[in-house]
Amino acid sequence: MFWDQQCETLDRDTLERLQLHRLQETVRRVAANVPFYRQKFAELHIQPDNIQSLADLSRLPFTTSADLRQNYPTGLLAVPCEATLRLHTSSGTTGKPKALFFSRLDVDNAAELCARSFVMTGITARDVFQNMMTYGMFTGALVTHYGAEKIGCLVIPAGPGNSERQLMLMQDFRTTFIHLTPSYGLYLSTFLEKHGIDPARDLALRKAFVGAEPYTEETRRKIEEGLGLDVYNSYGLSEMNGPGVAFECVHKSGMHLWEDHFLMEIINPQTGEPVPDGEPGELVLTTLCREAMPLLRYRTRDITSLIPGCCPCGRTHRRLNRITGRSDDMFIVRGVNIYPQQIERVLMAQKGVGRNYVITLAGYDEMTVKVELAEAGFDGQVEHLVKFQGQLAEKLRTEILIKPRIEFLPPGSLPVNEGKARRVIDERKM
Ligand code: AMP
Ligand code: ZN
Repeated sequence: MFWDQQCETLDRDTLERLQLHRLQETVRRVAANVPFYRQKFAELHIQPDNIQSLADLSRLPFTTSADLRQNYPTGLLAVPCEATLRLHTSSGTTGKPKALFFSRLDVDNAAELCARSFVMTGITARDVFQNMMTYGMFTGALVTHYGAEKIGCLVIPAGPGNSERQLMLMQDFRTTFIHLTPSYGLYLSTFLEKHGIDPARDLALRKAFVGAEPYTEETRRKIEEGLGLDVYNSYGLSEMNGPGVAFECVHKSGMHLWEDHFLMEIINPQTGEPVPDGEPGELVLTTLCREAMPLLRYRTRDITSLIPGCCPCGRTHRRLNRITGRSDDMFIVRGVNIYPQQIERVLMAQKGVGRNYVITLAGYDEMTVKVELAEAGFDGQVEHLVKFQGQLAEKLRTEILIKPRIEFLPPGSLPVNEGKARRVIDERKM
């Protein structure tokens, strides 16, 4: 199950030689064409010829999302505007978005990496792909769309939401795989259950690629049970072409990062120094093949760790652990650092809890976890509910050291975003 067996199984020496060659090319190109990098190199007294080994990567400057915004719209282009083919933006929250340009080669490479990633799990030209990512300016849908077309799949550009229509399309066209966010995956599970659909009996679904936001193993299991399929973790970011940066193979033991296209580092976000293999830190990526907008040492803010050792699938590209959150997702309540994924892990492992939740912070550090109950989560006895509330609050206290207020809601009652879920609503008066 290989799309490009030669590239996917390159021996490490050859792969590293290729990486060095591509890194040198990239550095030469940005030094010649991108004033932002030329100035950074001058400040750091770097010449392109100084890059003689992969270890020299650490001499290069970091690029941050602030740099992308400050150079909006075309400041980081390494080719003339006429050579660009497509514009995407990143899902920013406020102000100007980040503008990401693709050349023809970039569009093709992005699709190529998605094709590799899908085929790695057994997808073939006979599969039917219902794409539930958001079409439009974001990379999520278009890049996976082109990837599946490259394989030869039938692609249904459904976009997210409108679950009635999703169900109709899945039934009528015998959809075999989907790509969606974990929050929509959980919602769709609830929807099918409510409508009496048994996926194994009524649908042809086999696989789901789930990404675009952090989620836990417990959530993976819930989606697998709810939709009756295998869930594979799919990682990417617009700054690196979008999806197809790192995906899971059939072993589901970490995501292979396509190292012939991206150089990875995992660093301590405070010091910028590398962390030892296997330790968590911030993922930093350098593009090796990007033509229109190469980026050096891009600070993704995503927290992950490297999985040491080889994968039984035979691919030599190293694996990343699940992204546990973004360094900027963390919030602090009463002096304690908390990631939403810590709360999700507890909620999704708990029988009786449904599939959607939101964390609200209000007043002076008051934290409430609003969570849907499962369909069969309430037996009508209020005292059982109160007891369950106490147990859940206690379980959360063990995980996050703070006992939040728990508010139970009926299944399907919390809003579901079309794009990424908003898990934390901070309305504190501080
Ligand atoms: P965007 O800028 O819209 O392309 O979103 C990219 C961001 O989405 C990444 O930097 C991650 O924070 C998040 N993301 C994407 N895929 C995953 C995944 N599989 N697990 C966790 N977070 C993800
Ligand atoms: Zn593998």
